[in-house]
Amino acid sequence: MNILVVGAGGQIGTELIPHLQKNYGYDNVIAADVRPEVVERLSNISRSVTLDALDVKSYSAIVKENRIDRIYNLVALLSATGEKNPQLAWSVNMGALLNSLELAREFKCSIFTPSSIGAFGNNTPHDNTPQDTVMRPNTMYGVCKVSGELLSDYYYSRFGVDSRSVRFPGIISNGCLPGGGTTDYAVEVFYEIIRKGTYTCQIPENTYMDMLYMPDALEATTQLMDADPATLIHRNSFNVTGMSFSPKELFSAISKRVPSAKFDYNVDPVKDAISASWPNYMDDSCARKEWGWKPKWGMEEMIDDMLSAVRLKQF
Ligand code: NAD
Repeated sequence: MNILVVGAGGQIGTELIPHLQKNYGYDNVIAADVRPEVVERLSNISRSVTLDALDVKSYSAIVKENRIDRIYNLVALLSATGEKNPQLAWSVNMGALLNSLELAREFKCSIFTPSSIGAFGNNTPHDNTPQDTVMRPNTMYGVCKVSGELLSDYYYSRFGVDSRSVRFPGIISNGCLPGGGTTDYAVEVFYEIIRKGTYTCQIPENTYMDMLYMPDALEATTQLMDADPATLIHRNSFNVTGMSFSPKELFSAISKRVPSAKFDYNVDPVKDAISASWPNYMDDSCARKEWGWKPKWGMEEMIDDMLSAVRLKQF
């Protein structure tokens, strides 16, 4: 299996690369990103190449030359960044997806393009959010995610492209800092508390959002892609979640381990509106039934692991 990860230099890609190498062999994974300095860094851990996913000719050449069988398309401007330049978010997110789907069709690749809890909106049921429900997001990021789910399903039903994906909640990790999402606070807090002992949160204290610890997120990407297609009723995209908490709950649990930690709030109105429109917690029973999804990490274990990993970093 030859695998191409596009947008590999971000929060998820940086950790997905070693995970895929472990599962499918070092030489069978290629990391691609538009930022040359990031590709330089990736070249220490993987075969890597500079690629703008919007440049379909170069993208096509890489897929063809390397006989790619599976594409992980991670290219996106995230929710908070996307609201600063919605037109750019649409052209990058949808342009990269359309090129990826077209190449998957032409070269018969399977393809994974993550969706997000950002695909939901204000009038989605916020508690136990169902797999199939109202999806009317009010961010450009969300509009792209819903469109991406539809387009990926269309390529499956119209052209037989093996497209599969999950709706990731906020991903918590310690390999690479997050790239401008609304759930970033749940990562930043660990760095700030270890570095400075204080953290100012831009999300209101009682806003609940789903989260997933990176090891579970990585398992989801390979487990779904390797699942027997006969068991899949849904394709794009499955609800998956590992935990749900508010800033207040997270900070109180961190305080138990770091009693000197100080927290306050300076709510960002854009992030407030986005986070308020997202689920409090999702129902991920379809993923559990259709491909055996079962997360291993809850909030308490995640906090212990994050604190020890971030403490080891040199600042
Ligand atoms: P990120 O912003 O950290 O990384 C995205 C990468 O894409 C960056 O390295 C960037 O350089 C690269 N990129 C941007 N434009 C490109 C282009 N034209 N060609 C090639 N590369 C390009 O994002 P991430 O957090 O790793 O997210 C990856 C995917 O997962 C996205 O689709 C995102 O929407 C989804 N997702 C992430 C989260 C999360 O919490 N991190 C949650 C839900 C969904």
